Amino acid sequence: RNDTRDVQATTAECIRAFEAGADMMRISVPDHASVKGLRQIKLKLKQSGFLQPLIADIHYHPELALRAARIAGKIRINPGNFGSAQTREPDESACHHPASWKETLHQNLRPLTDICKEHDTAIRIGINYGSLPLYILKQHGQSNEAMVETGIEYLKILESLGFFKTIISLKTSSPKSMVMACRMMASRMLTESMSYPMHIGVTEAGIGISGRVKSALGILSLLHSGIGDTIRVSLTETPEKEIEFAKRLKALAAMENKQSHELAGLSGTTLTIHSEASETDNLIADAVNQYVQFGEKEMVREIIIDAPQVLEQNVALETAVQLTQAAGIYACETEFISCPACARVSMDMEQITKEVKKRLSGRPGLKIAIMGCMVNGPGEMADADYGLICTRSGLLHLYKGKQRLKKKLAQKAAIKLLEQLVEDPVADI
Ligand code: SF4
Repeated sequence: RNDTRDVQATTAECIRAFEAGADMMRISVPDHASVKGLRQIKLKLKQSGFLQPLIADIHYHPELALRAARIAGKIRINPGNFGSAQTREPDESACHHPASWKETLHQNLRPLTDICKEHDTAIRIGINYGSLPLYILKQHGQSNEAMVETGIEYLKILESLGFFKTIISLKTSSPKSMVMACRMMASRMLTESMSYPMHIGVTEAGIGISGRVKSALGILSLLHSGIGDTIRVSLTETPEKEIEFAKRLKALAAMENKQSHELAGLSGTTLTIHSEASETDNLIADAVNQYVQFGEKEMVREIIIDAPQVLEQNVALETAVQLTQAAGIYACETEFISCPACARVSMDMEQITKEVKKRLSGRPGLKIAIMGCMVNGPGEMADADYGLICTRSGLLHLYKGKQRLKKKLAQKAAIKLLEQLVEDPVADI
């Protein structure tokens, strides 16, 4: 979450996450100074006895990927950014002609795969709705099929370059569609005789109980069906909190949890989940795990969570509400998506998200996005009703759907305008 150029703060953040149990840390590399920072962070961690791999997160800048691939254990890229050497954006004309699009990618990815082979660096291909090639979008629209086709194409291109140390991820902010996309991808890889590890997670899951419920639902559904090799709980909170919750999910997925089946029971269309957990995160993980393993989900119209040991009873109620919503049973709350924040964000995302949530909760059917930067923000919040995106200068852009309504607002003014807009969508703001 820190600026990668701040070597001391980022190293300290990595150490906190490793001590909490992280197996690896992903670090944003948005510029050349951050590549230098990455090298120094790796060295400092090594000197402190932390040898866990670092993953360099690269967007839009192939030249940064070439440099970071010599340092990191893995780099996360969107191969589409390698489409045109001149513009560093996918070449519009090539995107309409799959053969030339593939040829361009093949040529432009070769230097990267050569370096990765030389340094034994893995590549994670990160696919989301905001990064699909035009020709695939034309065929499949913005859909899970489009993400799967894109993933298969990228894997084939890397294979044609003799590169096989690839990890694939398909992420959306909806647990249901992310689970469907990953299942489709796993089965498609089988058909193609491919066997690549999958990194799984619900992107921009948000904060608090709703963020945990969404993450647990997506991740546990996949882990219980044998899909998933690395997991990422993505919360707009500190990495330690993400790791702590991820560890609970991993432990639950590893358990033969026969007892869970007996605790959840259906009466009519109401599913009652009983949990003896007394601590919030344990209750959320346990309740979602029971739901995931419950065999007659299509019958469920209502969820009640009976948690006699939990101190704050509103936690059980809120978990039931968020699970009902995340499972797609019905919308009973405003849906908030917010990114986990990284070096690209210059504002306190957690505080902004909490403030927006406080003001705009309780509106079923409404979807609001709070994103940390213009690199990923517009693409990933494309299906939200309204959104706020942070700028590098600590201000916020206000969006209605895909349309930017106001630029560079101070935080207080932006949230106030957002609230006005939600109250009166046709208001002239
Ligand atoms: Fe980082 Fe958030 Fe931007 Fe994603 S949307 S790149 S997490 S600041």
